[in-house]
This record gives sequence, C-alpha cells and structure tokens, in this order.
Amino acid sequence: MSTRAATYDATVVRRDRLTDHFVRIVLAVDGFTSTGVPDEWVALTVPGQFQTRYYTVRSHDDGEFTLDIVVHDHGLVTEWASGECVGDVVTISEPKASFKMPDDAQWLHLVSDLTGLPAVARIIEWASGRVPVRAWVETPDEPVRDYVVGDVTWSTAPAGVETATAAIVEALEWPETPGYFWMAGESAQMRAIRKHLMRDIKLPSSAYDVMGYWRGGGHQRQPRAVDPGPIWRAGKAAGKTDEQIWADYDAAREASGE
Ligand SMILES: Cc1cc2nc3c(=O)[nH]c(=O)nc-3n(C[C@H](O)[C@H](O)[C@H](O)COP(=O)(O)OP(=O)(O)OC[C@H]3O[C@@H](n4cnc5c(N)ncnc54)[C@H](O)[C@@H]3O)c2cc1C
Repeated sequence: MSTRAATYDATVVRRDRLTDHFVRIVLAVDGFTSTGVPDEWVALTVPGQFQTRYYTVRSHDDGEFTLDIVVHDHGLVTEWASGECVGDVVTISEPKASFKMPDDAQWLHLVSDLTGLPAVARIIEWASGRVPVRAWVETPDEPVRDYVVGDVTWSTAPAGVETATAAIVEALEWPETPGYFWMAGESAQMRAIRKHLMRDIKLPSSAYDVMGYWRGGGHQRQPRAVDPGPIWRAGKAAGKTDEQIWADYDAAREASGE
C-alpha cells in the first residue's frame, strides 16, 4: 500500500484487446480488499497524471485484479490504455459500491453501455441462482458475446447518435412484482431515466440504482496549460527520476504562467 491513506500502487502485468474499443488491463496489487458488492469500482490514476477516472473491478483473485477499459476517441485513460502499458505502476483507491437489491426482489433488470458492461457481468454472475436477470447492453460496434453468460440483448446506437440507452429503458416492460433495476450510462440520460422511473413507472427509490458513468456531448474537462503526461513520458524515456520529471513539470508550468 502506498504512503497516501486508502490508495494502492498496482503494476500492470497484462494488457489484452477484447474488441477495437475494449481493453483488458490486469494489475498486481498487494492488500486490496473487495467490498464484495458486484458493481464495485476504484479511482484509477495513470502514470504522470493527477486526475483520476473510475473503473469497475471486473474480477479479483489472489493479488491480481482486472479492469476492462473502453477506449474513446480521446481521453486521459483512453490514451494510456491504448498504448504499451505493461510494467507501468498506477494508483488505485479503495473500492466503493452502490448496487443494493432489496431482499424481496423477484427480478433484476440491467441496462448499460459498454462502460457498464464490466459491472453488468459481475452482477449477472453474483445473481446466478438468486433471482432471474435480464440485461440490455449497447456497444459502439460488435457485441461482446463471450464476455458474460446470461440473458443479454445487445444493441448499437443509431448512426450519428452518441448513445441511446434511454430509448432502451423507455421500451422496457415492467413486471408487476417487486424487483430491482440497475443502470449505468451517460450522465444527462441517467438524470432523465431517474425522472422516468419515478414519475412514469412509479418505482420506489429503493427499487432502482441509475448511475451516471460519463459525460457526453463533447464535454471537455477543465483544460490545463501544461499536460503532465507527455513530460512524464519524455522524462521516463530519458531515464530521469520522478523528482527530476516533476521539476521539469513545475518549470513548464511556471514558463506557461499556469
Ligand atoms: C462508478 C463508475 C464505474 C465505471 N466503470 C467503468 C469501466 O469499468 N470501464 C470503463 O471503460 N469505464 C467505466 N466508467 C466510465 C469512465 O470512468 C469514463 O468513461 C471516463 O470518462 C473515461 O476516461 P478517459 O480518460 O478515457 O476519458 P475523459 O478524459 O474522461 O474524456 C475524454 C472525452 O471522451 C468522452 N467520453 C468519456 N466517456 C465516454 C464514453 N463512455 N463514450 C463516449 N465518449 C466518452 C468525454 O465526453 C470526453 O469528451 C465508470 C464510471 C463510473 C462513475
């Protein structure tokens, strides 16, 4: 465990391509304790960055755990996971979780885009033998059929539409019996879905968990005058120490007036 409380250093031991947009990263880490809740996630900080991004713990076993990362057109983790990252040391937070199915649930419905598929898969595995599960998953290209065994309906968003998971939910039929609905996707659509479930479907709030996983519409995070990523990579390539690299970064920020 690193010196900062509640964070762990983890080393990338494997990187596998699942599809053109989906990359598996296997990490070795000491002391990580799972919550046991199937949608658990960690905050990931990749080398040379301060900002974190959240990723679901797809699986964990004996000092290794797996994150499955969607690569977008651009992005901080996207760029890192698209390159050769085996051997890199990353930082992860302690896990958090949200899924909370009531004891009296007689059905479980799951909807997500590709970023939610790791959680959907873990929830399906957890629910096996407890409650019947159906899932609807939107992917940017081909379905990832081998990823999980279960009743999964695959779709892609119509051409020119960033994501259409809200339309999937509007077409669902809702059983009369008590159950649980879990969903993850683009944040603005998730806000609309919560309203739909509350006002139109009249589900009690304990019967659903709808999570905003990312912000669409070309949303840009706060830009920085100096990006530490390239400075970090150039410093590493030149064999510099971490202290030397951060000194280069401070000098570049000073020069830019940041
Ligand atoms: C609890 C939780 C668990 C998550 N689990 C996973 C997981 O297991 N796997 C996973 O891949 N993601 C997961 N996410 C989503 C992930 O954190 C975001 O997609 C994140 O923004 C990706 O970071 P990035 O550095 O690649 O791109 P950013 O630097 O954050 O964004 C770059 C650009 O990409 C766009 N963008 C970001 N996400 C998407 C997207 N999904 N589709 C299209 N455009 C997008 C942004 O709008 C922005 O314009 C999870 C999120 C949460 C909150």
